Amino acid sequence: MLGRVPDYRHLIGGELVAASRTMESVDPSTGEPWANVPAGGPAEAEAAVAAARAAFPAWAALPALARAHHLRKVSEIFGRHAEELARLETRDNGRVLRETLRRDLPGMAFLWQLAAGQCLDAVTGDTVVLGPDALGLTRREPYGVVVCIIPWNSPISTFSAKAAYALAAGNTVVVKPAEQASASVLRLGELLAEVFPPGVLNIVAGLGEEVGDALVRHRDVAKISLTGSTETGRAITRASADALKPMTFELGGKSPNIVFPDADLDAATRGVTVNSIYTGNAGQVCVAGSRILIHRSIWNEMLGRIRDVCAGLVLGDPQDLRTTMGPIVSAGQFERVTSYLELAAKEGARLVFGGRSGAEVVPELPGGYWVEPTLFATEDNRLRVCQEEIFGPVAVALPFDDDEEALEIADDSPYGLAAGVWTRDLGRAHRFVRDLRSGTVWVNTYRQMPPGLPFGGVKDSGYGHDSVLEFTREKAAIIQI
Ligand code: NAD
Repeated sequence: MLGRVPDYRHLIGGELVAASRTMESVDPSTGEPWANVPAGGPAEAEAAVAAARAAFPAWAALPALARAHHLRKVSEIFGRHAEELARLETRDNGRVLRETLRRDLPGMAFLWQLAAGQCLDAVTGDTVVLGPDALGLTRREPYGVVVCIIPWNSPISTFSAKAAYALAAGNTVVVKPAEQASASVLRLGELLAEVFPPGVLNIVAGLGEEVGDALVRHRDVAKISLTGSTETGRAITRASADALKPMTFELGGKSPNIVFPDADLDAATRGVTVNSIYTGNAGQVCVAGSRILIHRSIWNEMLGRIRDVCAGLVLGDPQDLRTTMGPIVSAGQFERVTSYLELAAKEGARLVFGGRSGAEVVPELPGGYWVEPTLFATEDNRLRVCQEEIFGPVAVALPFDDDEEALEIADDSPYGLAAGVWTRDLGRAHRFVRDLRSGTVWVNTYRQMPPGLPFGGVKDSGYGHDSVLEFTREKAAIIQI
């Protein structure tokens, strides 16, 4: 039984604003609608930007320590509401509770504390002595109204990584969560409504091509930060071209995870399976190591090891802490992932294991969007299943013979978000860190994203990364004495 269907509201100018239109949010483990969420449009975008613009001068003028005080309050709210928010997000997007409760939420209180501590960095500049009678100064200044557009796969983490740093730097913010999973961010809006002065933090939900498009075109929006697909990055660039807005784009990936024979193969096996693509969010992770490159001398052994680990995964109710892999987020994404299962077979990739989808995977939840952990093998990295982001629990294994070939295959991709290297050879580890064209390289580990280190991509994976300094611009002053 669904019980009462919760209704969520926008947060605009410090008020929780009832939606003029709503859409249903679907629980992906059952396929049933479970909540009504706002479907905002240009009117809500206009109201939110106007509120943020009005709030900007006073927020930017606050001393850094006063801004930090507000951010610390958010950290306390995360501490108090962690379980509620984790369960809500799991309900909305199917990411297993093991991940939301044990991995995502515990980091949020810390992230907001860290951002509070960085409020001072945002107002720290340089002094340059230009000669006995002249001094150069730099000032860091906030942009103004910043729009943060976030995807459905980890809404609270992405919300925090953007909003915390943008606010710390003195910007006011409009957040647009994804239509497939906006409930956890809208609930955060309820919890945070009174933490900030009205208009400093606004949240408007709705479709990307409606409220999202209206936000990115708005003349009063000074900067955009998007985490989403490469296609959306392109659409936003086109829509905002006339206004020349600075952007931060954290986009898609097709990350190589490379295993050498000298690696600790137990660690590598976990690193290419449960710590990379198959658990967490059923492969719906931007950094998923969806291309597993295996040295030919350990090819059969590694395929066997990977199969054994995946055979032990537990698919089912994402709210159950024993469940290790959940569903695909939506009917649309399910269609996309299963179309790649068909394509791989057509392209001639060999199915190593998995490949089933739908009710037969989890019969007790027949309406859910289930896809089995699946591995294909091929020698041809040019296949579409090796080049395109599938965003599901579907990986492709590719053999290689030496370091040069591994690098060549790894780099033969439109994307450059992340890469993993499993080896005990220190020289090789450093060579791969240097030569892999990607935003992050993990050596003998995978999917660690500690706050404090930059996280972003190259090539079609985007540019820039969310940090306090990225949400400021530098001004120069030359003072003649
Ligand atoms: P998406 O691009 O479809 O949507 C992301 C957000 O953009 C949503 O809020 C959506 O409503 C909005 N949007 C869509 N079209 C828009 C438009 N024309 N104007 C303004 N806003 C628009 O992505 P998704 O399906 O929600 O998420 C999956 C994608 O996100 C994958 O490609 C994944 O790799 C990527 N991702 C990247 C990272 C990273 O940090 N690099 C992290 C998570 C997800």
